[in-house]
Amino acid sequence: MNAHIAVLPGDGIGPEVTAAAVAVLRGVAGQAFAFTEHAIGGCAIDATGDPLPAATVEACRAADAVLLGAVGGPKWSDPNAPVRPEQGLLALRATLGVYANLRPLRVHPRLAALSPLKAEHLHGVDLVFVRELTGGAYFGRKTREGDVAVDECRYSVAEVERVVRRACELARARRGRLTSVDKANVLETSRLWRATTERIARDYPDVTLEHQLVDSMAMLLLTRPSAYDVIVTENLFGDILTDEAAALAGSLGVSPSASLGDGRRGLYEPIHGSAPDIAGRGVANPIGAILSAALLLRHSLGLDAEAAAVEAAVDAVLDEAELTADLGGHATTQQVTDAVLDRLAARR
Ligand code: ATP
Ligand code: MG
Repeated sequence: MNAHIAVLPGDGIGPEVTAAAVAVLRGVAGQAFAFTEHAIGGCAIDATGDPLPAATVEACRAADAVLLGAVGGPKWSDPNAPVRPEQGLLALRATLGVYANLRPLRVHPRLAALSPLKAEHLHGVDLVFVRELTGGAYFGRKTREGDVAVDECRYSVAEVERVVRRACELARARRGRLTSVDKANVLETSRLWRATTERIARDYPDVTLEHQLVDSMAMLLLTRPSAYDVIVTENLFGDILTDEAAALAGSLGVSPSASLGDGRRGLYEPIHGSAPDIAGRGVANPIGAILSAALLLRHSLGLDAEAAAVEAAVDAVLDEAELTADLGGHATTQQVTDAVLDRLAARR
């Protein structure tokens, strides 16, 4: 049976970059996928009043993987609006139970000049963040009494175990090094995080575990980013550190992400937003979406060689092809996509 991929183009440049990713998936040798398209975000509000229509949820649950563009835009950003596009995305993550957010960071030599770091610091950077996505302070009880506000940060052993296991599996499949980030000198949740991580890591003798406090990790990402392989951390720390890491990559347009739960189904999306300032002009950088499709091949479909082929085709394009305006070039979304497809075909 063909793998079924639910495509959620969303708003702004979402439809443009997901079309590119679908074209690349169609160009993967020896595979035929079934694609269905569904509404999410602002366009879903316009069509149905709901940022995550029931039909979209049903289709995603039935699919082997979900490929998402981006949601949101000025049309729906009125703070007094009864529903907002971003609620659709949060609800989808919760519904699919995707608790592990993977964000790889590599810096292609041609893009090193766009990074705030010096090229010599970026040499050999190849790491993946695994951010816990469904727990911690973002989901704890929130109260406000008079002058006092409280955000409860709560983690259970089971919540830590499942995301750390994912990170250990990933480290095992990579260079075997895991860095766990916490604030165990101050926070009780971090002490639970650290003890649980140590216990789980014993099941992975081939993985070397080290701990870093989040404040030093923020510094080490700037001073020796090439020293890391897999970095696992809780929701709030991960939110902050992955934005720092994205800035190191030099461009929002090239970074992919995968959100995984139990089992193989995952949600794949570029890390950039809907970029309303350039939407509809055919100039969006499709590389973040295309690399998200590569993660989909690897993590949901088990097609490791095919994923590597897509990544190699993107690397070749970054080596030598004309790029989009965000990377200083003049190419259109279509031209970059065609360049990736050419390299992919040439590798057969
Ligand atoms: P969010 O929607 O998550 O709040 P944001 O509004 O912070 O995101 P984006 O929508 O990603 O950010 O856009 C930030 C800037 O980066 C914009 O100027 C946008 O044009 C540019 N940008 C983002 N993604 C791309 C892309 N794929 N190609 C070219 N430019 C991009
Ligand atoms: Mg935006």
